[in-house]
Amino acid sequence: MIYLDYAANTPVDDSVLETYIEISKKYIANPNSPHALGKAALEELNKATRLMAQLLGVKENELIYTSGATESNNLAIKGIAGQYKKYGHHIITTPLEHSSVSGAVAYLQSKGFDIDYVDIDKNGLVDLDSLKELIRDDTILVSICMVDSEVGIKQHISEIAPIIADKPHCYFHIDATQAVGKIKVPLDGVDLMTFAPHKFYGPNGFGVLFKRENVLLEPLINGGISTTEFRSGTPVLPLIVSTAKALSIAFEKMEERYNYVSELNRTLRDALAQYPKVKINSTDESIPFILNLSIFGAKAEEFQAALSDNGICLSTKSACCAPGTLSRPVYALTKDRKAALSTLRISLSHLTTKDDINTFLACFDAIYNKLVK
Ligand code: PLP
Repeated sequence: MIYLDYAANTPVDDSVLETYIEISKKYIANPNSPHALGKAALEELNKATRLMAQLLGVKENELIYTSGATESNNLAIKGIAGQYKKYGHHIITTPLEHSSVSGAVAYLQSKGFDIDYVDIDKNGLVDLDSLKELIRDDTILVSICMVDSEVGIKQHISEIAPIIADKPHCYFHIDATQAVGKIKVPLDGVDLMTFAPHKFYGPNGFGVLFKRENVLLEPLINGGISTTEFRSGTPVLPLIVSTAKALSIAFEKMEERYNYVSELNRTLRDALAQYPKVKINSTDESIPFILNLSIFGAKAEEFQAALSDNGICLSTKSACCAPGTLSRPVYALTKDRKAALSTLRISLSHLTTKDDINTFLACFDAIYNKLVK
């Protein structure tokens, strides 16, 4: 099997899994229990939190542990809305968002919040003038994906942040789920940031929300104090410690992996650009880990199924999207329904070999010649 769907999930790194097992066996107590075994677990938890905070350049009490990026996004968006609705009901986001952001925003819209979508330019970057025009005195949140999950466009967060910083009651949330562990994430002027370790060879079922100390959130899950008052539940020590491990490996190897994947991406782009009915949707602003294309004259799901029958696994859109629907990010970028209905997303890793790419390209060629009319 050739796996080209790393944006949906990555395999857990062996040493990360070992850490998970080791911690699960060694620490049996709840880190919040005041007895000796609880204290030992808490010490380990604090060590892991310290390491993550150091790597990200944030404070330890600014990390909230959740069940995944979906929960982190929901907590950020609904949490800000609930906490700061006294200052306004206006939220700005982009048409590029993952369903865990667009869904949370749609929910708030159904509860009376006013939602605006900022324009993007031909490369998929947030149009800063459009953002300036949209921001109002009653805007309480701007939520922007640092890298979108389908086209892989990397937003210029450091240029966006100062526009929001001027507004005293407006908070800036970035969904960095496709960014953390792959590229540097600038947090100056960012109030909240989402990520999940299953995107960088860490464990599944875990997410993090960075929330600046001075920002408050209405919790989604009520109960006792866990590691913070904003998300209740027994802290899952093996997930926390193994995430810190995955993060430190990802940071250490970041440049090397980025350069290697860039090379694979170039090979793919050059080869796929030769097909007359293929359009590459990823732009110059896309990260190399994601390559999105449209194939005209064939159904994307049929193409995907034929690749899968030949042992190649990739997505048509983000794994959470319903089949047969159009890709919202590709539609926002191209304004072309046909292009948005016929997308394939190839997502790459340092684990992808050059042979994998050659096998994929040979297979792609055979299926293209058979299916594309
Ligand atoms: N945000 C982005 C940009 C994603 O790519 C994903 C997953 O694909 C999510 C959020 C949701 O992640 P999770 O599966 O951890 O809930």
